[in-house]
Parts: sequence; C-alpha cells; structure tokens
Amino acid sequence: MAFDLQKLLRPHIAALKPYSSARDEYTGKEGIFLDANENAIGSVSEQAFNRYPDPYQSELKKKIGELKQVLPTNIFLGNGSDEAIDLLFRAFCRPGLDNVIIMPPTYGMYEVSAGINDIATKKVPLSTSFEIEVGEVLAAVDECTKIIFICSPNNPSGNKISRQSIYQILTNFDGLVVIDEAYIDFSDEPSFSLELNHYPNMLVMQTLSKAWGLAALRLGMAYASKEIIGILNKIKPPYNISGLTQETVLNALSNTKLLEDMVKEILVQKEKLILALEEIPEVEKVYPSAANFLLAKVPHASQVYQKLIEEKIIVRDRSKVQRCEDCLRITVGNEEENKQFIQALKEVLQVHTKTT
Ligand SMILES: *Cc1c(COP(=O)(O)O)cnc(C)c1O
Repeated sequence: MAFDLQKLLRPHIAALKPYSSARDEYTGKEGIFLDANENAIGSVSEQAFNRYPDPYQSELKKKIGELKQVLPTNIFLGNGSDEAIDLLFRAFCRPGLDNVIIMPPTYGMYEVSAGINDIATKKVPLSTSFEIEVGEVLAAVDECTKIIFICSPNNPSGNKISRQSIYQILTNFDGLVVIDEAYIDFSDEPSFSLELNHYPNMLVMQTLSKAWGLAALRLGMAYASKEIIGILNKIKPPYNISGLTQETVLNALSNTKLLEDMVKEILVQKEKLILALEEIPEVEKVYPSAANFLLAKVPHASQVYQKLIEEKIIVRDRSKVQRCEDCLRITVGNEEENKQFIQALKEVLQVHTKTT
C-alpha cells in the first residue's frame, strides 16, 4: 500500500491557481491599508468590524496548536466541521465517478455532502454492537474509493470505535481516512491527531460546537499533513472564519478550567440519566456512550418521540435509521432538564404500554 496524495487529488485542483486576497499579498500589520476597499472611516457597529479578518487565522491556530499539541501548519479551520467535509469532496472526489465509504448508523452530513457533490456513498453498516466490520469495509474499496469516514465516538450510537479497527483501516487503505472526533472531549481516548506523523492519509476532525459550548460561533478543526492542509487552504473561501469568531474563540480557549468543569458535570449528569433510564421497566436498552448523548431503545419510539414533543421535550427520533430501530437519541441536559425528561418519558411510556 502506498499513499500518493497527488494521485488522489483531482487534476484540476492540482492545477488551480487560487484566489489571492489583499491579505494574502501583503501580510504586514502596520501601514495605511488602501488595498481591500474596506471602509476606512469606521463601522456601523459599536465594535470595529471594518477590516477583513486574517484569512489563515494564524493566532487562533497557534493557540489551538498549543492546546492540542499539533503544529499550526497541520491545522485547517472551517466554518463548522461541515465546511471541511465539503472541501474534502471537492478536492478529492470527481462528481459522478468517485465514491466514499460510510458506516451507518453515523453522522448524516457525510452522505448529504457527498450527495451535494454528486459523489456516491458506499454503505458498510457497523456491527450490531456498532463496531467497524473491517473486512467488509476493505472489501468494499474499489479504484474510485477516495475517502473512508469514521466517527468516534460515533453519532448516533455514542460508543467509541475500537482503535485497532481504525489502525487497520489506516494501514490498509490508500485513500484518505477521515476520523471525526466531534465528541472526543467527553471520551477517555486520546485523539488520533497525536499520531498525524505516522499516517499521511489521515485527517482528524474536531469541533468547538459540543464540549466547548461554542456551537453558535461555527468553528471546526481539521488536522492532517501540511500537504493536505495546503490543499484545503487553496480551495477554501478566502475569509471563511469571521473576525468576530476568531477573536471570541481566541479569548474563550483560555478557559480550559471551565471546559473541564463543564465536561465533568455533563458526565455526572449522564451517569444519573443512565441510571434513571435503566430503572424504567419499559426502556429496553441504553447503549454505552463515550459522548454527551445516549441512545436508548423504547417500544414505539416514534410515537414516544411525538408524545414527548407535546410535553415540550425534544429528543432525536433515530428509529428509522438502520441498526437504531426503536431508538431515541437523548442529549444530556442539565439536572433539571433531565429530571423533567425522565418524568415525561415515564408518563408517556406507561400510558402508551397500557393503551397498546
Ligand atoms: C455535531 C457534530 C459535528 C459538528 O459539526 P459543526 O459543523 O462543527 O458544528 C461534526 N461531526 C459530528 C459527528 C457531530 O455529531
């Protein structure tokens, strides 16, 4: 097996001359800036937003790099993880020709983004215990398979995927292996980003939307070789991360103590929620979770979901998803929210079992 990035890349992207922004052509900070057609008088906002932000987010990458022990040249920042997913399709997958492999049940955006880009998705379901069927995945690879998406901890099942299986995919596949670690901060597993140097075909994604509590700011990280990061930088919209996001995130990232405290609290609430769910006789199964949500199997899940909505409690109905029949996905809320959820669930399930 030999990974050849140039061979994987779509030829027109390799040949592409990227847009060169004003902030690309002159990177100094001092001077009279008459190069970007900005408003030199000021901004209609109280805070000054009249200057374009750093297109490569260097300060932010330096800070994230320190936190995550990854070099800034190995980091791409996107407007949410979804931007990185879309750019990967555009860089590596030829519409109508190439395909990627996903392992349902998993995060829905891989398939949607593939569809938008006219890329076929081959589906190799996870096992009934939500583990990778390595042999089947590798057997599904053909000469047009460009990317394999792995999500760990997996959404919506919540489990962390066997590391051994992930290593097997990494070493036996010539294309790109994307490991989506959106929920890594809730897990006791180390990030694969610490092993970037061993796997030139690996791209690790993380996000500030979950444990960090910054979903509204839209910031997703991708870690990979500097060659892969270079390709993403080449095709991204020039100013893809707003100045407000860059500045707010830069300040927020210092609050690592708060992050740790919140994660601890969420994990405590998760344990309580598991116990409470397991005490309800109608609940058939609560799946192991290394994330901030639980997958639970209940009778007539879709109807239970609807009844919960009538009580103004909104969970995610996953019952139509392969391997998740009759399952609801429940995000761990705060203590009071979880209490109200459990109370409502008990009522809905009892009423329901009596009448059906
Ligand atoms: C929530 C989530 C994301 C995060 O996406 P953002 O666009 O960064 O908010 C990515 N992957 C998975 C599996 C998720 O569940």
